[in-house]
Amino acid sequence: MSKTAYCKYCGKMIDFMKTKSGKKMPVNLPGVYYFPWIHGRDKLVLPSGEVIRCEVKTEATESGNKGYIPHFVTCSRYKKDHVPKKPNNRSIAFNQMTML
Ligand SMILES: [Zn+2]
Repeated sequence: MSKTAYCKYCGKMIDFMKTKSGKKMPVNLPGVYYFPWIHGRDKLVLPSGEVIRCEVKTEATESGNKGYIPHFVTCSRYKKDHVPKKPNNRSIAFNQMTML
């Protein structure tokens, strides 16, 4: 049986990674190359379940390791659906978006 899953918000193909804390995190497919860096601006989930800071690379790195971008970072509809639509909730909406 295929493990392929689709985002219920935007319909894109995703996968689920189990993080160290036992949570299932939806991630983008395919995986991306990365260079681990504590001050990197990207956040990836590794197949081991570790969540790391890094720089995503478009070309294969020396190690050839791949990580996965958490899907909610790029999901086009998730944010819209999770931001209150009432105008007087603007400040709350802003806080939620900065958290993502
Ligand atoms: Zn999505």
